[in-house]
Amino acid sequence: MANQGSGPRIGYFDPPEGPLADRLDRPWEMTEHEWTEILGRVSPGRRLKPDRWPERSKFAVALSFDTDHEVGSLAGGNFAPGRLAWGQRGRRVGVPRILDILARHDVPATFFIPAVVSLIDPDETRRIAGDGHEVGLHGWIHANNSRLDRDTEREILLRAREVLNNISGQDIVGHRSANFDLSPNTIELVAEIGLEYDSSMMADDSPYELLLAGKNSGLVEVPVEWVRDDAVYLSFSRGGSRPWLSPTEVFEIFKDELEAAAAEGDVFQLLMHPHVIGHRSRVWIIEKIIEHAKSLGGAWFGTHAQVARWVRESAA
Ligand SMILES: [Zn+2]
Repeated sequence: MANQGSGPRIGYFDPPEGPLADRLDRPWEMTEHEWTEILGRVSPGRRLKPDRWPERSKFAVALSFDTDHEVGSLAGGNFAPGRLAWGQRGRRVGVPRILDILARHDVPATFFIPAVVSLIDPDETRRIAGDGHEVGLHGWIHANNSRLDRDTEREILLRAREVLNNISGQDIVGHRSANFDLSPNTIELVAEIGLEYDSSMMADDSPYELLLAGKNSGLVEVPVEWVRDDAVYLSFSRGGSRPWLSPTEVFEIFKDELEAAAAEGDVFQLLMHPHVIGHRSRVWIIEKIIEHAKSLGGAWFGTHAQVARWVRESAA
């Protein structure tokens, strides 16, 4: 039931729709009413930067791992055993190393897991949850939401949540869209099915309220950024992206982001992928970031759900 559309795209994977569809190549004809309507569908509301963090700490650290493994390739139609193996390294090597580091430093994190990854290896999800980490929604098979009509997207969200609820034993409350790709309906659906927060958007450095048609959706956005995403700097695909920074340089960027967030008393949110960061020559970045955060004094480490709840309650 994919609604793929054709012709020029108005956004990232966004299929043309409605009265604009026949003049997407003439954006200068867009009326104020039209752009106001588009911008108003989903918009950033009140900034939710708290005056203080739990346990009298000065800033928050929220680590996340998008546990995509091989399903990104599956969803992309690349079934070559070699490419699938490249993703499977995340399960065999990445996650165990990451869990070991987090356990040694007694730091919680959030693992956003596509439901199919959880079905391929339920024990991995159980181990993640058993170590006290949060499990969050990350699509069914890591397909782009904007390819889906509303009913299909809703059904997939519910199905993925049921799988993760059952396997993790947790009540899933958080959502991160695959590839940060949101359909015009995604946020409304995430609110409708009763989740507490989304973590796919980039409108602010601090968490913020998400508005739907100008009204508070009840969802907190825990914002992401490409700047704080390991895959941007370190990922490789044959004929496509390739690492363009060394791990040391990536660490320096993350460290600068951490120090600036700490200085502002804000949250330092970081996104990593086990199959990208889990290499021997890279995984140390996680440990050094945790150690550096602790050395600054006043760090509070929380899951994305804990951050979302804290900022919402603080702003109430
Ligand atoms: Zn992903």
